[in-house]
Amino acid sequence: MTDPWKILGKERRLTPEIRRLIEERYGQRGVKALEIVDEGRVKRYLDFFVVVGSSDEYVVEEEFCTCSDALFRRGECSHVIAVRIASLTGQFEEFPLWYQDIWKKENREA
Ligand SMILES: [Zn+2]
Repeated sequence: MTDPWKILGKERRLTPEIRRLIEERYGQRGVKALEIVDEGRVKRYLDFFVVVGSSDEYVVEEEFCTCSDALFRRGECSHVIAVRIASLTGQFEEFPLWYQDIWKKENREA
């Protein structure tokens, strides 16, 4: 099977062909990942990529994600796939902040 990441690495944008390959390879998780990228829900902080989910934000670092899906599946949840796509196509919002600092602040307030 054709590797969608190889083509995406060359094209640097989501062509219909690449979308199809990602959906074929990852099924529902691929569909969800493409949705996340299309809706602009990937943010890049100085330290981490963050995906805005329906009820929470997930921190993604390479193959790791803070969502419960990733705990069981280890990597390759829709967020990890979305960040992988976004980092190749540049479809993310950049924040010149350390996410760690925001995290700490939230935990202090809670
Ligand atoms: Zn996840």
